[in-house]
Amino acid sequence: MPSEPTTSAAQDDGPVSNPFFAASTLPYQLPPFASITLADYLPAFERGMAEQLAEIDAIASCAEAPDFTNTLIALERSGQLLGRVLHVFYNQSAADTSPELQEIEAEISPRLAAHQDAIHLNGALFGRIKALFDARETLELPEPAAESVRLVDKYHEEYVLAGAELSPADQERLRELNAELATLSTTFQRNLLADTKARALVIEDVAELAGLSEDAVAAAAENGRALGREGAYVLSLKLFSNQTELAELTNPDVRRRLLEASLGRGFTVNSEVIRQIVTLRAERAALLGFESYAAYQVADKTARTVADVEEMLARVVPPAVANARREAESLRAANDGAPIAAWDWQYYSEQVRKAEYDLDTAALRPYLELESVLHDGVFFAANQVYGLTFTARPDLRAYHPDAHVFEVFNEDGSGLGLFIIDFYARESKRGGAWMNELVFQSALLGAKPVVVNNLNIAKPPAGEPTLLTFDEVTTMFHEFGHALHGLFSDVAYPYFSGTNVPRDFVEYPSQVNEMWVTWPEVLRNYAKHHRTGAPIPTELIERMEAAKLFGEGFRTVEYLGATLLDWAWHKLAAGEDPGADLEAFEATALEKAGLAMAEIPPRYRTGYFAHIFTNDYAAGYYSYIWAEVLDADSVEWFEQNGGMTRENGDHFRAELLSRGGSVDSIQAFENFSGHAPEIEPLLVRRGLTAH
Ligand SMILES: [Zn+2]
Repeated sequence: MPSEPTTSAAQDDGPVSNPFFAASTLPYQLPPFASITLADYLPAFERGMAEQLAEIDAIASCAEAPDFTNTLIALERSGQLLGRVLHVFYNQSAADTSPELQEIEAEISPRLAAHQDAIHLNGALFGRIKALFDARETLELPEPAAESVRLVDKYHEEYVLAGAELSPADQERLRELNAELATLSTTFQRNLLADTKARALVIEDVAELAGLSEDAVAAAAENGRALGREGAYVLSLKLFSNQTELAELTNPDVRRRLLEASLGRGFTVNSEVIRQIVTLRAERAALLGFESYAAYQVADKTARTVADVEEMLARVVPPAVANARREAESLRAANDGAPIAAWDWQYYSEQVRKAEYDLDTAALRPYLELESVLHDGVFFAANQVYGLTFTARPDLRAYHPDAHVFEVFNEDGSGLGLFIIDFYARESKRGGAWMNELVFQSALLGAKPVVVNNLNIAKPPAGEPTLLTFDEVTTMFHEFGHALHGLFSDVAYPYFSGTNVPRDFVEYPSQVNEMWVTWPEVLRNYAKHHRTGAPIPTELIERMEAAKLFGEGFRTVEYLGATLLDWAWHKLAAGEDPGADLEAFEATALEKAGLAMAEIPPRYRTGYFAHIFTNDYAAGYYSYIWAEVLDADSVEWFEQNGGMTRENGDHFRAELLSRGGSVDSIQAFENFSGHAPEIEPLLVRRGLTAH
C-alpha cells in the first residue's frame, strides 16, 4: 500500500472504510494504528454498540430453551467490534490524549455506561442467565468444564451486582446514576490534567535549582521551551504527592513551593465534582442493597467484606506509624534537632541515607541505563525464569513514535504475543505507570495477546542516555509483571483472560515480578555503567541492601494514608453529607485512622486521586497491600524452593499467570504455593515486626 497520500480528488469523495469495522489482519491482530484517525472513533463506537445490542437481542429472544452455547458462548462472542475500538481508544486517551480525543471521551463515556446498562438490565437476557445458574448442577457444559461452570457463576454474580434483580423504577434510577457518574469521572480527569499543567513549578533563576543534576536542569529547561516558556525552568508535576526533585533541591523554599503546588492540585477545580461522585456512588450502593460503596465494591473481590479489609489494615497501621515516627526522629537529628516539614522529608531522608548507609541514590543512576534495564534486566529475567525471548518489530507500528513493539516467543519458539513499551512522560500522557491490553487472549476467539506498558520517565535531552532512578527500574519490572499476566493467559473464554481478575488480586503478579530487580544474577546483568560498562560496584549493592528497610515507615504510611482516604470517601452511607470542605474531611479521616502525620502527606490527596475518581480503584486502593500479602508470601516460596529456576517459573506460570480469572483467586494462590496466604512475610518485608 502506498504510504504517501495522493492528491486525487477521488480519495476525498470515495467511501472511506473504518479500520475498526473488520478484525485487524496484522500479526496478532495488532490494531492498524497507521490507518486509525480521530474521525474513526465515534462511528466505530456507534456501530460497535448497535452491533452488540443486536447480538444481545438475538440471544435474549432466542426461541430455544437457554443452554450454555446459545446464551453464554453467544455472549462471549458478542461485542467484538466494540471491544476493538474500546481497547484502542482508552489506551490512547491515557497515553496520548488531545483536546479532540477528550471531546470524544466526554461524549462517549455516558453512552457506554448506558450501553452496559442496556445489557445488564435486559430482563429477558437475565432470565436466561438465571435459568442456567439455577440448573448449574445438572447442565451439560463444554470443556474445560471447571472454567465453564465458573462462567455461569460469574455471569450471574455480575448481573445481580449490576442491578438485574431490581424493580423497573430502581433500574431507571440506576441508569441515571451510572450516566451521571460516567460524565463526572471524565470531568474530574480533564480538570485534573489542566490543573496539573497549570501548577507546574516555573523557576526563573537557575540558582534556585541547586541540588539537581545537570541533566535534570537541562530537562527542566527543555520542558520550559516545550511549554513556550523559553529561558525558564519548568518542573512538571508527577501524579503522586512527593515529587522526586524534593530529595535533591537544596533550597527549602523551592521545596516548599514544589510540594505545595503538588498537594493543592484539583481541590479548587474538582471539589464539587468529587462531592457529587461520592454522594452518587453511595446512593448507587444503597439501591443495590449495600450499606456503602465500599461494601458494594468488595462483594465480588477476594476480600469479600468491609471487615476483612479493615482487619488487615488494622494490623499494619500502628506498626507503620511507629516506624515512621522513628524515621522522623532520625531525620530531625540530621536537621540539627529542628522539626522536619513535609517538604523536608525526602531531602533529609537522602542526607541520612548518605550518612548512615553511605548510599547516594544519584550515584546509582549511571548504572541504570534504560535500554540495559529493559533488555538485560526485565527481558533477561523473563528469559531465565520463563524461557521467553524478545524480538524488536520496528516494522509494526504502535500508537505513538515513542512506543516500541516486541514479539514475544516461548522457549520452544512458538509466538506468544506482542509487547509494546512506551517509556517517556509527555504532556499528553496521564501520570503514573500502567498496563493495557489491546487484544485479550482467548481460545474461543482464537486470539493471542497484545499488551502495552506505559511509564512516565523524563525524556533526556537529545543524544543523552536515559538514566533511571531505582524506583523507575522497579516500576518497569512491576508493569512487566502485569504484561506477563496478559501474555501468559491460557483460558477458553475472554471473560477470564489475563488481567480480568478481581482488582485486589491483579497487582499480585506484577508485585511478584519486582523480586527480580535485586536478584543478584539479574542485577549484575543489567546494572552496568552506561559509559564504561563497568559493573555496579558490589559495595554499592551491599549498601543498597542494608538501606532497604530505611524509608519503609514513610512509604507505608504514605500509601496507607491514600488507602484510608479512599476508604473514608466510600464508606459514606447514602444521604450522608461529607461537607463542602474536602480538606477537613481528609483531616478527620486520617485522624480517625490513627494516620495523621503532617510530615507525611498521603501518596495521593483527594484532589488528584485519579485512581479512585477516574480509574476503577474506588474503594480499592487497599488492593495493593492486600495483593502484597500474597506477593511477599510467594517471594518466600520462590526463595525456599531454589529461587530463579525455570522449574519455578513454569510452576508459577501454570498455576497462576496462565489462569487469569478462570480459577478462584485464593484457590489459584493455594494451588501455586500449597498453603493459605499468611501476612507475616509482608510484615517482615516492611519492617513491621521487630518492635
Ligand atoms: Zn500495578
